[in-house]
Order: sequence, then C-alpha cells, then structure tokens
Amino acid sequence: MQGKIIKGIAGFYYVNVVESIVYECKAKGAFRKEKRKPLVGDNVEIDILDEAERKGNITEILERKNELIRPAVANIDQALVVFAVTKPKPHLNLLDRFLVMMERSQIPVVLCFNKKDLAGEKEIQELYEIYKGTGYPIVFVSAFTQENVKEIQELLRGKTTAIAGPSGVGKSSLINTLQSNVSMETGSISEKIERGKHTTRHSELIEIDRETYIMDTPGFSSLYTNDFEKEELKEFFPEFQNCEEVCRFQGCDHIHEPDCAVKAAVEKGIIHPKRYESYQELYQELKERKRY
Ligand code: GDP
Ligand code: ZN
Repeated sequence: MQGKIIKGIAGFYYVNVVESIVYECKAKGAFRKEKRKPLVGDNVEIDILDEAERKGNITEILERKNELIRPAVANIDQALVVFAVTKPKPHLNLLDRFLVMMERSQIPVVLCFNKKDLAGEKEIQELYEIYKGTGYPIVFVSAFTQENVKEIQELLRGKTTAIAGPSGVGKSSLINTLQSNVSMETGSISEKIERGKHTTRHSELIEIDRETYIMDTPGFSSLYTNDFEKEELKEFFPEFQNCEEVCRFQGCDHIHEPDCAVKAAVEKGIIHPKRYESYQELYQELKERKRY
C-alpha cells in the first residue's frame, strides 16, 4: 500500500494512506544499513502488520522531488511565508531572510500578509509596493474574517506547502482555517499524534485533501544561516535578475561598482529601496562574518 509520512516521532512514522487513515510504522531495518532515513513528506510503500491496530512497516521510500536538511523534510512544492500586516508590524529584514532562504533551497514562495482586518489601505499598499517586484504571489488575508482565504486555498491546491514565518503572525490560526473543512476519521490522526506532543515540536503534514498538504514546520523560523558566499546573495533577490546583464559583464555585486544596473533600477523606483537596503545589510553581514 502507498502512503505519505505525515509525522515522525522517536523511530515511528505516521503514514497517511487514504483520507485520514494513518498507520503507525517502523522503517525496515535495511534502510539503516543503507543509511537511508525516511522523512516527513516522503511517499512510501508499506506492509500492513495489524489492520485493527493500524500498524505497519515501511518497505520502500519512493523517489524524492527534493529534500531539506533543517527542517528534515522531503517533497515540498512551495512555502507560504506568513507575516502580519500589523501587530506585529513586519520586520522587513527578517522577512527578506526568509525569502533568501527559500530561494537558496529553490522553494517557490507565496507571500502572505495576515491580519488584514487590522490594517489600513496605506499599510497594505506599502507592503505590496515593496514586494511586487519579486514576482511572488502576494495575498493579504485575515484568518479572523476569512477575507481572501479562498485565494490562499487556490494557491495551495494540489501541492505540499510548508508554512513559515515568525510566531504571533497567525500561522496557527490560518492553518486552523484551512483545515476546518477536513473531516478526520475520529481517533486516527489526532489520537495517534497526541502521544508525541510531550517531545519538542516536530514537522507535521496536515492533509487538506488527497493531493493537498500543509506542513507546519517549527524549524523554519530559525533557518537563516550565513554559510554561503556574499557573491551568491544577489542570486536570491528575484527582482535583481532583470537588470543583471550589465552587472554580470562587469562581475558586479551591486554595492560600490560604477554603472550598476541594480542601483540604477533602485533610483528609478523599479527595485524598491527597502529590498535593496536588506540586500546591503545581508551582504555586509556575509562580508564580516567569522570564518572557521
Ligand atoms: P502563530 O504564532 O503564528 O501561530 O500565531 P497565532 O495563530 O497563534 O496568532 C497570534 C495572535 O494573533 C493570536 O492572538 C490570534 O488570535 C491573532 N490573530 C491571528 N490571525 C488573526 C487575524 O487575521 N486578525 C486578527 N485581528 N488577529 C489574528
Ligand atoms: Zn550591479
């Protein structure tokens, strides 16, 4: 039988097989010898050991589309990066770190600003102006009034989406809203997963429908690392790519070089100054970081 690992706790893997039916599985010993470890998000083949108790064995890990190291998850299609329009006001440099991290991992981004109900038109417009150049879909939503929740649902359909963002912005509220239409087989997912709650929080896949999953990934809030070269940073700002021809020719990092097309685009208002500011800050940080 085929299923998807929705959670892994202490050597047990919870494999979702059909509409919310979950088997508690161990991985076949051979995986250990081969140094292969099943990950949340993996599509797997299982043998059922006990139908009544819903216990099984993972016998095969199907080919992965991608895998992340921290958090250790597989087969992510995209990330929903969630910040609040206000309360708390978005920390733009932090938001840009999330975006850089997703670009580095080649994960497509949907940018979501929650708590629209608390925001004025001016704040919304301002955020839109800053990020429209990135090309990411941008949705202003309210988990409270449900405004534009449908838009998010459309963007998630048929995909496995990791939810990322700092705490307090309404990620749990959004997940609850998105999940509210899911009918769970009583005593399946929730009961089995409850047992793991005492340990630290784990990545968990939540089934919206057979093809649609959202992944609550606690590890995503602290993922930004400095383990790359400052010269790579420019690749992770999508709106820089359009005006890079001149710059590429002269090996430009868009910092102090003359005739820099990125700086010209900032001056013309094509690239938002706030984004360029973040770039400068992160660049400086990479330049000054300690090398070990
Ligand atoms: P998380 O830490 O990102 O999971 O955020 P929570 O879902 O726990 O929400 C943080 C706080 O913001 C809670 O007090 C929520 O009630 C509140 N909140 C969440 N979504 C909204 C929203 O759309 N509008 C308003 N006004 N408050 C919200
Ligand atoms: Zn340049």
